[in-house]
Amino acid sequence: AEPLPWTGPGRPATRPLDVLGVPGQINLDYAATAPCASVAADAVTELLPWYASVHRGAGQLSRRCTLAYERAREEVADFLGARADDHVIFTRNTTDALNLLAHALPAASTVVTFASEHHANLLPWPSAAVRLPVPASPGAAVRALDAALRELRRGTDPGRPVLVAVTGAGNVTGERWPVAALARVAHRHGARIALDAAQLAPHAPVDIAALGVDYVAVSGHKLYAPFGTGVLVGRGDWLDAAPPYLSGGGASAYVGPATHQVRWATGPARHEAGTPNLLGAVALGAVCAALGAADRAALHDDEQALLARLRAGLAALPGVEELRLFDAAEPRVGIVSFVVAGRESATVAAELATAHGIGVRDGLFCAHPLTRRLIAEAAARRGWRNPPATALRASIGLGSTVEHVDRLLTALAGR
Ligand code: PMP
Repeated sequence: AEPLPWTGPGRPATRPLDVLGVPGQINLDYAATAPCASVAADAVTELLPWYASVHRGAGQLSRRCTLAYERAREEVADFLGARADDHVIFTRNTTDALNLLAHALPAASTVVTFASEHHANLLPWPSAAVRLPVPASPGAAVRALDAALRELRRGTDPGRPVLVAVTGAGNVTGERWPVAALARVAHRHGARIALDAAQLAPHAPVDIAALGVDYVAVSGHKLYAPFGTGVLVGRGDWLDAAPPYLSGGGASAYVGPATHQVRWATGPARHEAGTPNLLGAVALGAVCAALGAADRAALHDDEQALLARLRAGLAALPGVEELRLFDAAEPRVGIVSFVVAGRESATVAAELATAHGIGVRDGLFCAHPLTRRLIAEAAARRGWRNPPATALRASIGLGSTVEHVDRLLTALAGR
């Protein structure tokens, strides 16, 4: 495929953060998987001739691969503002990172989430987890968490660990959550907080130390790097006390002849058993370095301008209703979900793909309780008797252009 230049408004075509694409195909599905940045592709291409074992070989190639893997870990740590003593553990994706954290919870922990979370941040937690109702605003979320934690503390042993698990930006309506305020509340009540930054990190800086969160999870494939690499960053004590996520080579510091005679490694190695995904880590590290060095305020402004154009265009189309969570004026990332009167979303999405070369997503976006509710509310606002079963979602990022947005709006207008 020919690399497509990044041609956002007011930007030259030669920005270092070009993304790859296929001419004639308009990708408006970044929230599912973002296109690959050319810096990620370059980093992989450069390393391929050196391809050799990581942490498991004495040869020059292997040593270089080990260095590249560990440098990638540092690039990710810098990008996410990790504290000096945080563990940076490579995982497969955000789902894997949050499952690892769930696995590492101390016994008798309580986990508090909101019902609006992506399934990856709802389902890994113990069944006794507290699920707070979907709040009406970011401020209401902070107040609800405060009340819930106060109540929880009253009813339980104060020494019992509590973890709050929240998203930084929702994958259905792109709404941003008041992460720093939620972290302050969590800490005031002696709880820890984990941030699902799968959707936030591609669109805005995530600084663990500045936000005051204890753990952050991201996915490489939403961050312009290839599939198969994610990260869990955060406090080492629970992670070092937990059994290894996978048992095997790399996680074991010493293995004796008797069954179960094993001393497990501490640090990232404890949860990274098996030969790691070097290319994925290096690609993600390269994107983190490039994005970290980019003018993110300018990228943010460009994205917000496109998002405003998309939302205004959708609002002007008869029979199209956007899904709403928080008030329209609240901050959000480049994600919009909507429904079309009298049309099943899967049919509309298929038409966009086949007749217009436009890729969007249809479905319930791995946030079934939330999306069903938002569809019902959207239909009720418009007085539709038979709402569609699923919604459509358009999402943008690096490489998205005015033309992409306008082509979607024109296609929808002519449906
Ligand atoms: N959290 C959010 C908010 C997401 O949008 C997603 C992906 N849709 C995930 C978690 C899970 O990411 P992955 O599928 O890469 O594990």
